[in-house]
This record gives sequence, C-alpha cells and structure tokens, in this order.
Amino acid sequence: MIDYHLHGNFSGHGTGELVEYVEAALEKGFVEIGFSDHLPKVVDPDPYHAMPAEQLPRYVETVLSLRERYRGRIVIKLGIEADYFAGHEDATRELLAGFPFDYVLGAIHFLGDWHFTSKQGLARYAGEDPAAAFPLYFEQLARMVETGLFDVVAHPDALRRGAFRPVASLEREYRLVARLLAGRGMAIEINTGGVRRGCGGPYPDREFLAACVAEGVPVTLGSDAHSPGDVGRDYDAAYRLLADFGIAEVAVYERRRLVSRPIALRLDRA
Ligand SMILES: [Zn+2]
Ligand SMILES: [Zn+2]
Repeated sequence: MIDYHLHGNFSGHGTGELVEYVEAALEKGFVEIGFSDHLPKVVDPDPYHAMPAEQLPRYVETVLSLRERYRGRIVIKLGIEADYFAGHEDATRELLAGFPFDYVLGAIHFLGDWHFTSKQGLARYAGEDPAAAFPLYFEQLARMVETGLFDVVAHPDALRRGAFRPVASLEREYRLVARLLAGRGMAIEINTGGVRRGCGGPYPDREFLAACVAEGVPVTLGSDAHSPGDVGRDYDAAYRLLADFGIAEVAVYERRRLVSRPIALRLDRA
C-alpha cells in the first residue's frame, strides 16, 4: 500500500524528522510513500503553516537522500503540498518548477482570512455559516483544478469538521469538480486524516467520491500524518471505501507522470 500524504518538521505545525516517518512506514509494511510537506506560501509567508522558502532546497535534498538510503526497501517519492492562492499562479508555478517533484498535491486551507485547517482556525468554525462557506470552498476548488498546476486534490473537502457540514446538496459542485478533474487527468485523494479530525470518515464525502469514480478520476491515498505515529493511520476506513466503490487501482507518480497500479497487489503488504 502507499501513503502519499506525509508531513514532517519542516513546517511549524508538524513534528518528527522525515527519517522517522520512513521507519514508521517500513514497520507498517508500506511499499511506497511520498512526502508532501507544505510548499512555502507565495503570499504572507507563515512558518507555522508552511516551510520558509529558504528551507525548500533542504527539504528536497533530505527526501532525495532518504530515497537513496532506503532504496530496495521502500520507494520514496518527492511530493509537495501546495496551497492554491488565486492570482498567484505564476509564483506558484515558478516555485514548483525549480525542483524534481514526483507529484504536487493541490490544497485549500484558507477561505479569505480564515485558515480553517489551523488550530487557531478551529475556533472560528462556531461563527461561520456552512450555507455560505461550502459553495465558496467548491468555487475555489474548481478554480484550483482549472489552473493545471497540481496533480492531486488533497483532502478534497477538508472544510468538513464535526457538525460543520454542508446544509444543502452539493451534488452539482461534486459533479463539476469531478468533470474538471477528469478533464485535467488529475487524481483525488482519499485522506484518512478526516477520521481523526472528527468527520466521521476520510475525506472526501462518499457522495463526492462517487461523482469522481463515475467520471473515472484516479485515486491516491494518504494519512496526512503530521507525526510519525500517524503514518498509515485509519487506513482500514480507506480500504472500506475502496472496496465499497470497487476501486481496483491506485495512482502513483514519478516526475509528475501518473501510473495506475492494482490495489490488490499492495493490500497484502500493508
Ligand atoms: Zn499540514
Ligand atoms: Zn493540507
């Protein structure tokens, strides 16, 4: 099995050296992992959320040297999780072009000045209106996909938290994003971080995943681990989703080229 969403201590909110994540993945029987720490923010740099720009070369070197060190034991991919900020596409493209990434997760962590995935952002959930927030989130997500800057949508509906859920059907939004993903050849991530963030299951919502599967959108898997102990966490929930939706292949990447691999081959190893 694979885990394509691993962070580390390059960003201020992650803990643990990257090597500790590799060891944890080996212990759990993973055959392929990818690091996807946060790309430096191209607007309002914030070392809590994302590594400072001067750290990016060291992050890349660290992952590449781990790849060599563990060659033959586990496949290690160089990924990155990049924020989408409308109007800053060129800066993002330029930053991504400077390094030999295997894949780029595209993510939305902000709605306006609300950093909803941060510890501080949690408090604001009580005062926000889901009827306004979800359509806005999906509008942003659709734009993000259309930029063509990213390979995979990370935690596709991370705005869901506890009781903060869509109040009206998002079927139209799900279908639109699914079609855009299919058109771009992008993948969607099943992110088990949703389980420990109180969403009642991995991201995305089953209805959203169903829309993607109907459009033939490929699927990757990730735990969104921010500590070594979270590598592969709650994967039983991901396996259930894969089985329920009859998903037989998982998307892996090499130098930003997607390759589909049978899941069955990997399940017995993880
Ligand atoms: Zn993070
Ligand atoms: Zn994220």
